[in-house]
Amino acid sequence: MDLDKITSFCKRTGIIFPNSEIYSGLSGFWDYGPVGVQMKRNMTDLWWKEFVENREDVIGIDGSIITNPDVWKASGHLESFSDPLMDCKKCKKRFRADHLIEDELDVSTEGKSVDKLNELISNEGLKCPRCGGNFTDVKDFNLMFETNIGPVKSDNSKAYLRPETAQLIFTNFKLAMETSRQKLPFGIAQMGKAFRNEVSPRNFVFRTREFGQMEIEYFTHPDKRDNCPYMTDDIREYEVNILTAEDQKEDKEHKKITIGQAIDSGFMETEWLAYWLYQHYRWFVDLGVDENNLRLREHREDEMAHYARSCFDIDYRFPFGWKEVYGNADRGDFDLRRHIESSGEKLGVYDQEMEERIVPHVVSEPSQGIERSLLVFIMDSYTEEENRTYLKLHPKIAPVKCRIFPLMTKDGLDTKAREIFERLKEDIHVEYEDRGSIGKRYARADEIGVPYCITVDYDTLEDDTVTIRDRDSTDQIRVCIDDLNEVLVELIEGQVEFSEANK
Ligand code: ATP
Repeated sequence: MDLDKITSFCKRTGIIFPNSEIYSGLSGFWDYGPVGVQMKRNMTDLWWKEFVENREDVIGIDGSIITNPDVWKASGHLESFSDPLMDCKKCKKRFRADHLIEDELDVSTEGKSVDKLNELISNEGLKCPRCGGNFTDVKDFNLMFETNIGPVKSDNSKAYLRPETAQLIFTNFKLAMETSRQKLPFGIAQMGKAFRNEVSPRNFVFRTREFGQMEIEYFTHPDKRDNCPYMTDDIREYEVNILTAEDQKEDKEHKKITIGQAIDSGFMETEWLAYWLYQHYRWFVDLGVDENNLRLREHREDEMAHYARSCFDIDYRFPFGWKEVYGNADRGDFDLRRHIESSGEKLGVYDQEMEERIVPHVVSEPSQGIERSLLVFIMDSYTEEENRTYLKLHPKIAPVKCRIFPLMTKDGLDTKAREIFERLKEDIHVEYEDRGSIGKRYARADEIGVPYCITVDYDTLEDDTVTIRDRDSTDQIRVCIDDLNEVLVELIEGQVEFSEANK
């Protein structure tokens, strides 16, 4: 599917706008319109409810975007959070070396060193795609966004916008644990903005310079890295698409295996990692994403971060290829140890049983991009039929759950429709609309994924019933006004089939 088409669809329907378009925009920044903001909020609320509010073992925090620069020194971001860049010697255009190699040679560059990239460029004789010129050597460029604190600009005033939310979880680890009285194993979640000075933001909201992340750091005792009490037979039997590191070496496709097989065969090293990978893979599936467009990809050894013991991504089949929307690494005690060494603080935990102080391990670090996930829901639900284009969104993600139309704005139909609107508002997010023909109103609602539309007609005035129309099938059922709130809640929650909803 054409990404330009999705970009203009999102602009036209109020989902995503180019940032500051009246001043020619700004590369790598996007704004969310009246429809997009609601979709994004529904999605992040669902995530927070499922993985924080509904769990006794996960707590949340909300750290600040700017923090003491020592945090980024300790985490290694100031030293090594970079992208490989090169310039064309002739036309002076700047390129991200790994992206250019991937585009031109169709090979993965994940985890390849600068030397390896230079080698590939010279061996393959890559030239500037614009003018055919030769390239300078590839050099690393740091992605941290710099800013200054206070009125005087100096080396001491320098600070950075956070490039990820995760580090704030480590710096708040002790206080969050103590104040919530959590015991290992437990997780700390955070959701919020992150900033990366990406050299070539591209593919719409897939790669931007400002974006949101939803992350969890899940901590366990170092000796209990493999005991996940939440692992059930149902989870073990759940089938996922997996592309193993081994299969990538031989250029094979992903295969379907169960979570249990992935654990038993040893390439998902711990039950904990498997458990969290399952949780988020299933989150996408339960919210309607086609499983054929999802896969778990194991990181190869040559791309694995030095601190990671094991790492998997959830990839989505975008029009520009299979790409990561979520990463999850077993980080061991790397981060807490780095902060213990750098700050001199005791961030360990006293283990009553063993009577010793231990440094917990992060066995799983689910990290998911907010806008990339939203793009998945948009792309996966975008449907073109002969006479309509619409988003087949899961009702829970849909920006509005129901629109209410009076057939005409006269004879008391509009007053009746408004009455119903006021009643429905108490339980679900609804909108009232009376402009244009009913057909046009359906089309506008379908376009942004509104799953149900209610029409108030002359029969309503006689028998207190209305029609509900289903977006996907366009079927209609007649429902008593008294039952409407309950019926719609059941439909949105997936507790009843549409054709059965009025029985
Ligand atoms: P990539 O390889 O695509 O740059 P990454 O491996 O650097 O991503 P992580 O550091 O693992 O990404 O970040 C976790 C998640 O944050 C990613 O899976 C992605 O969904 C999101 N993310 C990272 N960088 C960006 C970006 N520039 N724009 C939008 N989302 C991003």
